[in-house]
Amino acid sequence: MQNTEIKTTCSYCGVGCGIIVNNDSKNGVSVTGDINHPVNKGMLCSKGMNLHYVVNDTSDRILYPEMRWSKSHPMERVSWDSALERAAAVFASIIKKHGPDSVGFYVSGQCLTEEYYLINKLVKGFLKTNNVDTNSRLCMSSAVVGYKKTFGEDAVPISYEDIELADTFLISGANPAFCHPILFRRIEMHKEKNPKTKIIVIDPRRTDSAALADLHLQIIPGTDVVLCHAIAKILIEKGYTDSDFIKNHTENYQLYKDLVLSSSLEKASKLCGITISDMKLAADIIAKANGFISLWAMGLNQSAIGVDKNTALLNLSLLTGHIGKPGSGPFSLTGQPNAMGGREVGGMANLLAVHKELNNPVHRQEVADFWGVETISGKPGLTATEMFDALESGKMKAIWIICTNPMVSLPDSRRVEKALQNAKFVVVQDISHNSDTAKFADLLLPAAGWLEKDGTMTNSERRISYLPKGINPPGEALSDVEILIRFAKKMNFNGFNFNTTEDVYKEYTQMTRGTNIDISYLNYNRLKNEGTFQWPVPDYGHPGTPRLFADKKFFTPSQKAIFNIPTAIENTSEQPNDQFPLILTTGRIRDQWHTMTKTGKVSRLMTHTPSPMLEINPIDAFKAAIKEGDIVVVTSKNGNVRVKAKISDAIKEGVVFLPMHWGKQLENDLNRTNNLTNTVVDPISKEPDFKFTAVSVGKF
Ligand code: SF4
Repeated sequence: MQNTEIKTTCSYCGVGCGIIVNNDSKNGVSVTGDINHPVNKGMLCSKGMNLHYVVNDTSDRILYPEMRWSKSHPMERVSWDSALERAAAVFASIIKKHGPDSVGFYVSGQCLTEEYYLINKLVKGFLKTNNVDTNSRLCMSSAVVGYKKTFGEDAVPISYEDIELADTFLISGANPAFCHPILFRRIEMHKEKNPKTKIIVIDPRRTDSAALADLHLQIIPGTDVVLCHAIAKILIEKGYTDSDFIKNHTENYQLYKDLVLSSSLEKASKLCGITISDMKLAADIIAKANGFISLWAMGLNQSAIGVDKNTALLNLSLLTGHIGKPGSGPFSLTGQPNAMGGREVGGMANLLAVHKELNNPVHRQEVADFWGVETISGKPGLTATEMFDALESGKMKAIWIICTNPMVSLPDSRRVEKALQNAKFVVVQDISHNSDTAKFADLLLPAAGWLEKDGTMTNSERRISYLPKGINPPGEALSDVEILIRFAKKMNFNGFNFNTTEDVYKEYTQMTRGTNIDISYLNYNRLKNEGTFQWPVPDYGHPGTPRLFADKKFFTPSQKAIFNIPTAIENTSEQPNDQFPLILTTGRIRDQWHTMTKTGKVSRLMTHTPSPMLEINPIDAFKAAIKEGDIVVVTSKNGNVRVKAKISDAIKEGVVFLPMHWGKQLENDLNRTNNLTNTVVDPISKEPDFKFTAVSVGKF
């Protein structure tokens, strides 16, 4: 019996913990935390420490390509050649008849960087459409726009090592205790060692993260911009600002200052549901900080005003000069393991590789020249929700879905179902038959999963790691890179003569040369032999860059950071009314990941929260005569969900919470939270407003 041990990275959240995998040919795979890894120092959360169950259980895996000749035919097993010849023939014929924008690719923040790069090259360079978007649209797109508007580029300024150097944390719209557990554990340990460390949590729910807070601001959903402006007003009025930093390194301060000073604390208090004294306390804590880190996630991003919420929070770091120095800076928490890597290679409908802009003709030509194609279309591609709208209306005819389960994860699930039913041709490339989306496939392609292929990922702190292949995929499953290359060849496209994933990586990294994300000197050998690196890594021997903007030079034309004025201060979500009087907010629970296709098959991860529950405040429960454990029906204008009630004063009155994970379409979709969610998106980032849907709740 031969044992092998490899070092890799967890495939779940954007924290990016190091994992040591033991592969024992008799007992299968087992995992432990990598004690030498800079991110987790040996720790793993419940999801990470149970990853081996997911790998060892192949009972749900898609083992060979399956295809149906028409919607009325059954799926049948076919060879890879037949599957990809059919895919190429159908895509070519639809494009010939209806134009390139009649097809699209919907991919995932779980794809490896090389896969993401190839998909973008294939679609934007060769299929001649920009209809390639990712489920990162549901996660980080508001943060991306916020960074670009403030710093000139999508660039997370700091790294985890700043946690141990900070003395003040503002956690807004995030529950890292559940969603980024190892990062939160580092904050917890830091506070244990340094009890004077202050933590402010802004959340309508008293989460496990809020339990650690010195100050919990239980905000009314949607009012974060108002709150940030109120805190800014107090800071300015008390003179708690860094005037040197503002004067020398920012633009647009006067407009911002005038705006926040004209706001009213009384009005803000009423809108946010937070007392003025608590707002003052928050401002005082921030004012006294030596090292101030703001952390945020979906509570800010998934909003009708997600971009404004982001820039309002970023403004607090500019106001206090807490950026570009140890223990200070804003830090978006990435949900998925490689959402950052995807953005680096242009994995969204409005982006190009290496942070170049689709709407910039010079950038488009540079990318076209690099890929050896004549042009790249300047027409923005359809975003995640727009693609499904286009399928429903018939404007888009075919979609290729890779490593994501939109039937459960996109808002208004029934609309997604109609869109997929209406599509002429649906390709699903995934690992598991448990994906609710797989049932709509005309062509089902078996992909290799974590540990079954190699490639790179970038975590929340810009840290790039190499994930080696440790085991063979089951059945005839192939790596996504291999599938995409074979498809490109069936389409007779030049430019896909890659023999290995490393070849793809080499091409991409050459494209980064001279850019702000330069990793042109970071090759696989360094990643394999020296470990992980934070970009940029602009020359041989460079150790990587833990902190950006240390020189106070930002990526804007003036090299100054920009105070942004929000387009909307008050929330523009569809407001509660007599029929739907409560605000539904959705989110993760501790032990589940996304739509549960992986974590849902690990029995020990089902014990913490075995079924979905509606969290409801005692006052709202009393008004609706609901008792603990009652089955309740939650209704919005889009649909309904039937779940047990969990009565808790941890949630603000007027707000209810449902976990996002469950979904069982066709036979029983009554657990599926996204039956309810609305289709409003932020007007700039196009990120859905998952955190604010008007609903009613009644006893079943
Ligand atoms: Fe994996 Fe995230 Fe848990 Fe780390 S914190 S083990 S990356 S799920």
